[in-house]
Amino acid sequence: MIELRDLGKDYGAGAPALRDVTLSIPNGAFMVVIGPSGSGKSTALSLINRLIEPSRGTVTIDDRDVRDSDPVELRRRIGFVFQRIGLFPHLTAGENIGITPRLLGWSAKKVAARVDELLELVRLGPAYADRLPQQLSGGEQQRIGIARALAAAPSIMLMDEPFAALDPLTRDELGSEYRAIHDRLGLTTVMVTHDMTEALLLADRIAVMRDGTIVQTGTPQELVAAPADDFVGSLLDTPRRRAERLRQAMQGSSA
Ligand code: ADP
Repeated sequence: MIELRDLGKDYGAGAPALRDVTLSIPNGAFMVVIGPSGSGKSTALSLINRLIEPSRGTVTIDDRDVRDSDPVELRRRIGFVFQRIGLFPHLTAGENIGITPRLLGWSAKKVAARVDELLELVRLGPAYADRLPQQLSGGEQQRIGIARALAAAPSIMLMDEPFAALDPLTRDELGSEYRAIHDRLGLTTVMVTHDMTEALLLADRIAVMRDGTIVQTGTPQELVAAPADDFVGSLLDTPRRRAERLRQAMQGSSA
């Protein structure tokens, strides 16, 4: 269980980026954090693996305060995937995937076997191991990014807008494939997005953020059945509104 308790973050002058955020993420859950740009989603995510430190409050993982863990060790135990894929350009796909296992002192043979296994898992295959990032499409690069994050067999994955830079088809495909990987490996995933369709399709639970606070948490069904306020209602309504606008545009163009 990941627990955020009364978390606050000030970056300096101005309103706090995060205010009194309390959120429980059970082991095995697929939690999506959604909200408009600047609502504090990335800040909340980055506090879990101590990329940043809170101004107030605590984060615990299985009842252990993350401040009692060495940040570097913590980040090796927790997979992290972000929008700007961030593969090292001068390393091959296989070398990128093998970074953490090598840092952990695995033998070359064990690393190579793990790289092949992960390339299969993200449906690329071993032939991709020797390619450089620039020889890969955006979707393939993000598959490598996911494989790299999974390399040391973390039980937790943090994902910050992982599919936002991809074209819509690749994005849908990779989203549902990642959800299958989450289920197969029994991961706990916390994914930040601003796309409600993605949230509704992928999440077990959704936390809706606005102005540095969580305004509602629940299953997709609970949120749709009873949005806490007009803001949540309007956010939940975006997929339907877009579909309706599209329908009208198509009718207009065929008239
Ligand atoms: P989101 O992920 O929802 O877009 P963020 O967590 O990135 O939101 O940002 C929340 C608020 O904190 C915003 O007002 C943003 O400008 C501010 N912020 C984020 N990171 C920093 C930083 N490193 N320094 C100063 N302000 C920041």
